[in-house]
Amino acid sequence: MGFPPTMGATVALVTKHGKERLLDGLLEPHGLALVHLGDVDTDALGTFTRERPRVGTALDAARTKLAWALTHAPHARFALASEGSFGPHPELPWIAGGHELVLLADRDTGLELRGDDLTSDTNFGATRVHSVDEALTFAQAHHFPSHALIVGPHKAVTDPGQLERLVSDALERGPVHLETDMRAHLNPLRQASIRRAMERCFASLAALCPRCSWPGFVGGTPVPGLPCEACGAPTRVAHHVLRTCRHCHHTLERPADAAVAPASRCDACNP
Ligand SMILES: [Zn+2]
Ligand SMILES: [Zn+2]
Repeated sequence: MGFPPTMGATVALVTKHGKERLLDGLLEPHGLALVHLGDVDTDALGTFTRERPRVGTALDAARTKLAWALTHAPHARFALASEGSFGPHPELPWIAGGHELVLLADRDTGLELRGDDLTSDTNFGATRVHSVDEALTFAQAHHFPSHALIVGPHKAVTDPGQLERLVSDALERGPVHLETDMRAHLNPLRQASIRRAMERCFASLAALCPRCSWPGFVGGTPVPGLPCEACGAPTRVAHHVLRTCRHCHHTLERPADAAVAPASRCDACNP
């Protein structure tokens, strides 16, 4: 079966914080229109404030939102959801990293497409301060006031005067917990990252299998064995990528960008 045309179909978006702006220009090329679900208490599905940690993975959380959207927008063919995670960067654990996952689900075919953005360009952080000066130093290093802070129980702090007042009041009772407010509408760096993940998700909708024309023909499994530049032995560097269509299982071999691997990655030259 050919993939049903997306022209004229609708997309239900689960968002509490106006993420629809981040979709500007991404739906139109596919002939898709947005269905507004109104304000949803996505906090029940996981949130970034300490009192309610997320249960399960980002993928679980995004899928829960998709299921919710498909139920609450029965006429929408597609649902779109995003989920962010923050912590030590997986490859560079000494710096903070952000991961935004965007999922697009197609009710009619069951197809699920994703877009990911992994970035070190995040202001994620938390600290305990003992003076107003320390608080201001943390604030400055974490993109305040263009990005909001959480001061003890007070969220969404973006006013420098309010920050000083809250911190100096709270200091009378002891050290004060400060952290970045990672909710998307208060965090332009997150918005940029979500936007990149959304662009990749919709690029995947445009990436069609050359045999059956279903979307999602992206990514693939790297197959090691690129020859070493010095000795020619096969290395663990990818020789090619196997990209397989999830619909018809057509597989294409995409060669690596380079013809040889650096000797520094060779187990024979560099055991
Ligand atoms: Zn070698
Ligand atoms: Zn195919």
